[in-house]
Amino acid sequence: MSKKTKYIFVTGGVLSGLGKGITASSIGRNLRSRGLKVTAIKIDPYLNCDAGTMNPYQHGEVYVMDDGGEVDLDLGNYERFLDVNLTRENNITTGKAYLTVIEKERRGDYLGNTVQIIPHVTNEIKDQIKRVAKASKADVTLVELGGTVGDIESMPFMEAVRQLHMETYADDCLFIHTTLVPVMGVVGEQKTKPTQHSVKELRAIGIQPDIIVARGAKPLRKEITKKISLFCDVPMEAVVSAPDAESIYYVPEILEKQGLTDYILGRFNIYAPVINSKKWDKFVYNLDNPKHDVEIAIVGKYTHLHDSYMSHLEALNHAGSDSKTRVKVRWVEATDIEKKGAEKHLGGVDGVLIPGGFGERGTGGKMMSATYARENGIPFLGVCLGFQLAVIEFARNVLDYEGANSSEFDEHTKYPVIDLLPEQRKIKDMGATMRLGANPIILKKNSKAHDLYKKLKISERHRHRYEVNHEYIKAIEKAGLKFTGSSPDGRRMEVAELKGHPYYLATQFHPEFKSRPANPSKTHLGLVFAAVKYSKSKSDTTSKAKKKPAAKKATTKKKAKAKKK
Ligand code: GLN
Repeated sequence: MSKKTKYIFVTGGVLSGLGKGITASSIGRNLRSRGLKVTAIKIDPYLNCDAGTMNPYQHGEVYVMDDGGEVDLDLGNYERFLDVNLTRENNITTGKAYLTVIEKERRGDYLGNTVQIIPHVTNEIKDQIKRVAKASKADVTLVELGGTVGDIESMPFMEAVRQLHMETYADDCLFIHTTLVPVMGVVGEQKTKPTQHSVKELRAIGIQPDIIVARGAKPLRKEITKKISLFCDVPMEAVVSAPDAESIYYVPEILEKQGLTDYILGRFNIYAPVINSKKWDKFVYNLDNPKHDVEIAIVGKYTHLHDSYMSHLEALNHAGSDSKTRVKVRWVEATDIEKKGAEKHLGGVDGVLIPGGFGERGTGGKMMSATYARENGIPFLGVCLGFQLAVIEFARNVLDYEGANSSEFDEHTKYPVIDLLPEQRKIKDMGATMRLGANPIILKKNSKAHDLYKKLKISERHRHRYEVNHEYIKAIEKAGLKFTGSSPDGRRMEVAELKGHPYYLATQFHPEFKSRPANPSKTHLGLVFAAVKYSKSKSDTTSKAKKKPAAKKATTKKKAKAKKK
């Protein structure tokens, strides 16, 4: 097999949000199933140096890598589909490229030359791409260019990959253009003009696509494939249809069936005919054939944009497949709970998940959800801010520490049960300054956490500035909330679990970031298993109650009496 990496550049046309990332991830998945080593780079043409300071409401979740890189959520899809651990270098942004060039200019590295977009910025972009490809030793490097062809801000990146293509051999590079084929009118005619226009735009930059992946509600009709092939100068077999799929995990098979992997391998002159994807296939099969149904509430503050909680959703999908359970998510806006109460919004759910977050808005509603789950024996998972709020809720309602809080929300609280990490006190810059990335955690023997992970030393990813205040640990534990995981030096509390509750677990770390198909996050799997048990116990009680109508009447009577009082 060739030692040099092969490049696949994935561009997008017509509109954003087409699922370029999923297309590229699926292509990578299929190549991996042929035994190839695949890595992926996501290019984001915005000026931010990384995604760390970006609002999840605009861009979806900030994904965290092992090395602490705060990156675009598409990197999460690449890690999940390719089952690899990537680094911060796998996300290139305009900010990052320009910052390096400007730093070099200040140092005098350009020796008096005029510093320009071409060649200095484009060289820097090419260097960053080549560095990742080389370090990963990948057979194939997927490079996804964010944005849409024609955007001003993606121009230097387009130019850089055009140059890369020119500098490599003919069978070392492929361009895949993802585009939209909309349907018009009552007859449902598939229209190719937007695709033709975006390919024209691409050619004006000097890029001729080798493959076109056409997104749309329905599969492409034969004559439409023909038309795209003719007008865009791409062979028929290289025009691939990617209709809407019920699950993103079905996309690799949709592409495989159309011969896309074989076509790519042919163009690369790589011989890799054997498909080995048993684990993946079983994962997809289980997704499709659930035996149980549960409903889990995600209580957050960006619930209108589900991408804000993408890794949690995927972790629940992975856990669902592993436990043969269809997990339905009930989206609950934390502030709505503050207005109408937990019962109104959480009544009937089989589990509650409170994800991470920043800022005070919605924390009241999240704590009300924690109380509701704690008091009613409903399976509960709190992550990062969810962990901190579970501790605060417990301090307030069980220990009676009135006004207990995190100093993030109330600097003057009498009971700062959650407080700033000591090393965070001096920090002024907001970008990339939290406690970030993978860190080891030691679990207590015979705890729920130990039971889930089946080992005592684990590693999970972090992203936080605040932590449990040591002063309160003893009192909290004495009252029943045990800290069963900590940093190896014992300074930082990492896991909390409630004694006597079927499943009440919270983690300072983010287990969702390492969840993978066929290897789900242990805490999410624990939540789903507990939810299945809880839902069964609920239906057992209802069927028993149905069998004994007399008993039901008695409770109603009791209630009526109580009401009169
Ligand atoms: N805001 C909290 C902190 O900084 C929690 C962060 C999070 O949930 N990722 O510690």
